Amino acid sequence: MENTFDVIRFFYELGISSMNCTMQSLDIPAAMADDEQVQFSVLGSGSVGNATVVRAGESCVMVDAGLSARQLKDRAKRMGVETIDAILLTHEHSDHVKGLSIFLKSQAVPVYTTSQTAYVLRQSGITAEWRTFEAGQSFSLLGMEVRSFPILHDAVDPVGYVLEHGETRLGILSDAGHVTHAITAALQGVQTLFVEANYDEALLAADTKRPWSIKQRISSRHGHLSNKQVAALLEIIAHPRLQRVVLGHLSADCNSEPIAEAVIAEALRTLGLQHAQVCCAAQAEPRGWWPVAGA
Ligand SMILES: [Zn+2]
Ligand SMILES: [Zn+2]
Repeated sequence: MENTFDVIRFFYELGISSMNCTMQSLDIPAAMADDEQVQFSVLGSGSVGNATVVRAGESCVMVDAGLSARQLKDRAKRMGVETIDAILLTHEHSDHVKGLSIFLKSQAVPVYTTSQTAYVLRQSGITAEWRTFEAGQSFSLLGMEVRSFPILHDAVDPVGYVLEHGETRLGILSDAGHVTHAITAALQGVQTLFVEANYDEALLAADTKRPWSIKQRISSRHGHLSNKQVAALLEIIAHPRLQRVVLGHLSADCNSEPIAEAVIAEALRTLGLQHAQVCCAAQAEPRGWWPVAGA
C-alpha cells in the first residue's frame, strides 16, 4: 500500500473502522482488581503531558509525571490509586516532569532516573529522594525487575523501561527518534508494549503550522517515532505472545488515532499477529486499566 490513507481505506473496506483494546472498566475500584495481574493505566499521553501508572500486586509505580500535580492525583484517584510508591522518569522534558515537584510535596516518594537526568532536574530546583542508575542498568523495585535501556532523543540521558513481574513483561518506550539495537534487544519478549507513535509522515510533511526546522527536529534521530518506525520496530520484536500495543504521544496535528491504529494493525496482521490488540492512549483522560499479559 502506498501510504497510510490506503491502509485506512483497506480497513474501512473490510468494515473495520476502529480497533479497540480490551481494558477493564473505568469504574472498577483498585480493591476489586486482580492483584496478581500487572496492569497499567495511561493517565495522559501527548505533547501536553505524560504519566502512566503501573500496578503490580499492592504496589503502584508512576512512570513520568508530566501532568500538573492536581491532574496526576485526580486521574490516579479516578483509577482507584490513592498512593504512589515510586516514580520512574524517562527524561527531563517538561511534558514528562511538569507536575513532579509539587506532587512530591504531598507524596514524598523516591524518584528513579539516570544520574544525568537527576542532575539536570536538581539544577532546575527540584528536590527529591533521588535513586539514580546508569542507562542500561537493571534494578529491583517493589517486587518488579526494572530494566532500563538508552534511547536517542534530544534530552540529556533518556531511557526506556521494561518492567518485569514474574512471567509478565511490559515495555515502555516514549520520545525516541530512532529505533536502535539497544531498544530492540531490550524489548524482546514483551507481552505488552506502550510505545510512542508521534506522527504520520505524510501529515507531518503536509503540516503548515510547524516551520521546517521543527519538522526536521521531530523526524530526526533525536526526535520522535513515526507510525512507520513503530511498525518497523514491531517487525523486529514480534513474537507470538505479543498481546497488545498501546500507542501514545500522538501529535494532535500530525497524527490521528485511526491512522496510527490502522498502520500498526496492518503491520501486526502482516506479521501473523492479528490477535494482538492495538489502541491509543489519550491526552485528556485515562482510558482504563490494561493488563500486561492476558486479555
Ligand atoms: Zn521529550
Ligand atoms: Zn514527550
